[in-house]
Amino acid sequence: MNIIEKVKFIVFTISACTLLSCGKDGSSPSNTNSPSISDPTTPVVINEHIHSSLPADWINEYNTIMTILKNLLPLYQTYYNSIDIYAWNDKVTDPYPGIDGGAYISVKNNDDHQKLFVIEVNNDEFLWNHINRYSVIAHEYFHVYQISLSENKLSDRDSPKWLTEGGAKVFEEMYVNQYYGKDSLKNDLKRTEMWSKKVLKKPSLYEKHKTSNKRGMDILMVKPGLAYLDIIYRLREESELPIAAYNVSGEYSMVKAAAQRGWIDERTIVLETLLRCIRYSSIPV
Ligand SMILES: [Zn+2]
Repeated sequence: MNIIEKVKFIVFTISACTLLSCGKDGSSPSNTNSPSISDPTTPVVINEHIHSSLPADWINEYNTIMTILKNLLPLYQTYYNSIDIYAWNDKVTDPYPGIDGGAYISVKNNDDHQKLFVIEVNNDEFLWNHINRYSVIAHEYFHVYQISLSENKLSDRDSPKWLTEGGAKVFEEMYVNQYYGKDSLKNDLKRTEMWSKKVLKKPSLYEKHKTSNKRGMDILMVKPGLAYLDIIYRLREESELPIAAYNVSGEYSMVKAAAQRGWIDERTIVLETLLRCIRYSSIPV
C-alpha cells in the first residue's frame, strides 16, 4: 500500500465521513446557547413540510423510514421541543422562504428549542436510483437524536467533527445495510472520483491531524497500528498530542492463528508488536 492510500485510510480513521455527509457547511448540530429544558418523557413534536416536487414513492418511503426511526430512536424533549422537517426536490427553486437548501440540521427562528431538519434531494438521485435519497433521512435523523441526548456537547463548535459526523455516517451505513442490503460507504471508498485530484499531489490537504486539537481532540489514533508505523512516526514528528496505535482484530487474529499452529511464540510477538508501536510514537519505555 503506498503512502497516498495510507493517507486516504488515515483520513477515514481520524476524520471519518466529514467528506461524505452533510451538504451544508457549518450546518449540523446548532451552535446557539439557549437554556436547557428537560422533559425526558414527552416526545418531540415533529412538523413535516414535504413538498409536492418529491415523487409519491419517495414520500411513501420517507414515511416508512420515519416510522422505523421514531420507533428505534425515540426523541424526547430533553433539550428541544420540536423539529420542523422541510423536504423538497432540488429541481425546484428553494420553495420555503427562509429555508436554505442542502441537507442539514439547524435551528428555527434562532430558538435552540426548535430544530430545523432540511433535506433537499438532488433530482439526479431519483434518475439514478441512488440510495442517498433515502439514507440521508437516516443520517440527519441521527443528528437530531444525538442532539436530543447531548445538546451541550454537540452545540460546541470545538467538538470533534468525526464524533458527530462519523456516528451519523456509521448509523446511515447500518440502516442502508439492514433495509436495502447495500454498502454505501464501501462503494463510496471505491469511487476514486470522490477524491480530489489535488490530494494526489498534496496528500497533506486531507490530513486532519493538524487541526484536530482545535476541534476538541485530545488524542490521535492510528489503525491498524502495526501496518502504519510510518504514519505513527510522521504524526509523532508533527504533533504533540498523545498517539494511540490501535491493533485491529485482523492483526490480533493473525498472531493468534500463527501461535496456534506453532509458527511463532505468541508472547514474544505480542510484546514485539507493542514495542514497535511504542518506539515509533517515541514514548520513552
Ligand atoms: Zn451529517
